[in-house]
Amino acid sequence: MTREVIIDLLKNHGYTAFELSQRLNWATHKIENDLEHIRTTVRADPDFQLLINPAGCQLCGYQFSNAKIKAPTRCPECNKEKIKPPSFIIQKR
Ligand SMILES: [Zn+2]
Repeated sequence: MTREVIIDLLKNHGYTAFELSQRLNWATHKIENDLEHIRTTVRADPDFQLLINPAGCQLCGYQFSNAKIKAPTRCPECNKEKIKPPSFIIQKR
């Protein structure tokens, strides 16, 4: 099961969707789709939780406050496209 592979990886280390796609050789949009499902699954898990380190702008330092799976494309502050994507980790509650 592909999602279980992702869950196992995220229990040991934080990754972005792109890093997971590199490790697993899957398309980033598939990983993002799986992460959406994993977020729902893990929400019901009494022992673990999915933590999202939100995206930020690499140029002006703007921090996105929303915990979205998909990286935004553009910074609302400086309007540039140098976005550090969100990263994900699964930790014990
Ligand atoms: Zn910016």
